[in-house]
Amino acid sequence: KKWVYLFTEGDATMRNLLGGKGANLAEMTNIGLPVPQGFTITTEACTQYYEDGREINDEIQGQINEYIAKMEEITGKKFGDLENPLLVSVRSGARASMPGMMDTILNLGLNEDVVKVIAEKSNNPRWAWDCYRRFIQMYSDVVMEVGKKYFEALIDEMKEKKGVKLDVELDADDLKELANQFKAEYKNKIGVDFPDDPKEQLMGAIKAVFRSWDNPRANVYRRDNDIPYSWGTAVNVQSMAFGNMGDDCGTGVAFTRDPATGAKGLFGEFLTNAQGEDVVAGVRTPMHIQEMAEKFPEAFADFEKVCKTLEDHYRDMQDMEFTVEHGKLYMLQTRNGKRTAQAALKIACDLVDEGMRTPEEAVAMIDPRNLDSLLHPTFDQKALKAATPIAKALGAAPGAACGKIVFTADDAVEWAARGEKVVLVRLETSPEDITGMKASQGILTVRGGMTSHAAVVARGMGACCVAGCGDIVMDEANKKFTLAGKEYHEGDVISFDGSTGCVYDGAIPTVEATIAGEFGRIMAWADEYRTMGVRTNADTPHDAQKARELGAEGIGLCRTEHMFFEGDRIDAFREMICSDTVEEREEALEKILPLQQGDFEQLYEAMEGNPVTIRFLDPPLHEFVPTEEEDIEKLAKAKGKTVAEIKAICESLHEFNPMMGHRGCRLAVTYPEIAVMQTKAVIRAAINVKNAHPDWNIVPEIMIPLIGDVKELKYCKKTVVETADAEIAAAGSDLKYHVGTMIEIPRAALTADEIAKEADFFCFGTNDLTQMTFGFSRDDAGKFLGAYYDAKIYENDPFAKLDQTGVGKLMEMAIKLGKAANPDLHIGICGEHGGDPSSVEFCNKIGLDYVSCSPYRVPIARLAAAQAAI
Ligand code: PEP
Ligand code: MG
Repeated sequence: KKWVYLFTEGDATMRNLLGGKGANLAEMTNIGLPVPQGFTITTEACTQYYEDGREINDEIQGQINEYIAKMEEITGKKFGDLENPLLVSVRSGARASMPGMMDTILNLGLNEDVVKVIAEKSNNPRWAWDCYRRFIQMYSDVVMEVGKKYFEALIDEMKEKKGVKLDVELDADDLKELANQFKAEYKNKIGVDFPDDPKEQLMGAIKAVFRSWDNPRANVYRRDNDIPYSWGTAVNVQSMAFGNMGDDCGTGVAFTRDPATGAKGLFGEFLTNAQGEDVVAGVRTPMHIQEMAEKFPEAFADFEKVCKTLEDHYRDMQDMEFTVEHGKLYMLQTRNGKRTAQAALKIACDLVDEGMRTPEEAVAMIDPRNLDSLLHPTFDQKALKAATPIAKALGAAPGAACGKIVFTADDAVEWAARGEKVVLVRLETSPEDITGMKASQGILTVRGGMTSHAAVVARGMGACCVAGCGDIVMDEANKKFTLAGKEYHEGDVISFDGSTGCVYDGAIPTVEATIAGEFGRIMAWADEYRTMGVRTNADTPHDAQKARELGAEGIGLCRTEHMFFEGDRIDAFREMICSDTVEEREEALEKILPLQQGDFEQLYEAMEGNPVTIRFLDPPLHEFVPTEEEDIEKLAKAKGKTVAEIKAICESLHEFNPMMGHRGCRLAVTYPEIAVMQTKAVIRAAINVKNAHPDWNIVPEIMIPLIGDVKELKYCKKTVVETADAEIAAAGSDLKYHVGTMIEIPRAALTADEIAKEADFFCFGTNDLTQMTFGFSRDDAGKFLGAYYDAKIYENDPFAKLDQTGVGKLMEMAIKLGKAANPDLHIGICGEHGGDPSSVEFCNKIGLDYVSCSPYRVPIARLAAAQAAI
């Protein structure tokens, strides 16, 4: 097997094998750009390294040695040679770029003898010793994992001793002394001498790059960016071009367009007499790339040409690293540049206008996950870079939050009313917290998963939420918590990022969301290409309105129990669940009926004749029974019962597994009067709106949750049909309606043929389907998923990214069985996965008619659905 490729042997199409960097180095070589030559060790070699127990096997080692010889021949330089020594850089390069996640080593090949040779031959001892001390420092840090800080301390000591501020002010002798100090430090920490043999150095460096694929920060980055662990990284060994040989040398990074705004024009930085990592590390302030034109006119002119060539070639914005050695330009890397969502939209549209891309390609270029930042506030990127997270939990609902800590929903409302920006920190949230959640910049919970109450509700509201932050030691009663060794009290300021799940001490400024002008253009193109519908999960008229603005083509899920979160509606709801006779319950239902009917009317209005699916009550009871003394007293009064009686009822409602308890259709089976009331509310609302808008095609879709057996559906449906038909007849209307079911219990998927005969539609509730297929709680999974990631059992949270292998198989089975039994069946998904791009792609593949997701994810789903169809 071929494990190693010269740059001259590859090309841009070989990204999977050579990694992005390797493929592009090969491509740049092919199109005649000035690239210092070298070779790429494949991603397969990395995978093999892990299979071999983190060892590079003999076959791969043999090929590496062979390629060193080839490289020596091409460059005319030799490893460890005392005439013309070869020095190389060793860099990682995965299939998808992971900026800054893995490791780089420069100036490899130096030792005590070689450094003297190059010092003399170049007549530049300062440069030679600078390279050597850098190499020792990087090698120790990256390969042997001796912390950087020891070396930095030695540099600082040296600068102080010499009375200078900048590294460049140290002379050859200082750097030589530093190199010796570094070697002594190395021996001190590792116990053996620093390696002198370049081949030994190289093998160590290659192993370090392979190993860095599995470092914690790379693992987290991969999870956040949906990059599979199995891909591995390639390693690029490239002969060095030196930017630190004097003032006619330098190094830079540049983008062909502004990565923040997308504006066309060179954007970047250049640093004279320096090596790559100096620009990144910010040890000296680099100059703007345009200033390079004055200092290095020829190299700059060449660079401008290269930029044009590369953009025309890749037909996308490029992010490049380059070096100028004695006035001559060398290209070290190019890739499609990372960009903000705003820039992504502008660049895609500009490329279409410039004739470089078709609209179809433009749609395919944009990462749907990026759109989040257009719809929610984000952190100021500079401030964020400088901040260190004090915890990392689940990024449950995107956005950036910064504010004073409050511990109760009431405090949130009160503080916000007097103009304070607050963040709500709770053990977990419950329906009472809704108003507090709305008043807050964001919600941070100690418990809960990606489909927990807080996460689902926050996502629906477009509010930022970090969930399941188990590192917090919470003391709600005393309004304080401990995190990362610090005690936080009410009023202390924290910040958190609902996309990454990172929590920060103190304030990080946020930037408001702005929908760029190009957004509409890209979305309109996306709508042309997609074949799947995009609906929304909306429970309130306000959410429905928002979703409609963002392009929803209907409501795929209205969680009717969520309609009781507003104001004191929860009171009536509690009166209903805490009833012990049918009469009592009917009395409470009488109060609820007009509220529901009014809401449904507004939902139909907001959706302007598009389909609206209303799901009948599915309240996990633990989320709804009163727990506060005050609420219990209120309820007792309303029901004419004693506090003790209410407490006894609540006690009797206690469940060990509320998610598998008395919820969903089980409620309608035990208390058909609830289904009667809900049917009346839906049908009456639909008739009213239909009368007001005769041109709208109003066909209510009533959805029964948590069906596991067709008989459950039949039973509930009978109540619905009897009630609906009576209502329609009484109103003299010709309204049509559909009755369907959620498929969210594995048994429903397995018996979908039977169920389909009774259902007009299916909608996959993949939150519960995931919970029940895996057999772990959607609220508690966060507690152990971290260990599962560490153990590489899972790479992703199955509640966020659909498990295509298992849950997906059940879905496919249900579709096949269902459609065979009922060809008219229409099928969608309304679990949280309906707004996750890779899950949307899967839904398209298995033939769903629509996906339904929270309002702010509608644009993401539209784009993802288009990409799936392209
Ligand atoms: C589901 O289970 O996927 C679903 C949409 O319903 P809920 O989240 O309300 O249980
Ligand atoms: Mg469900």
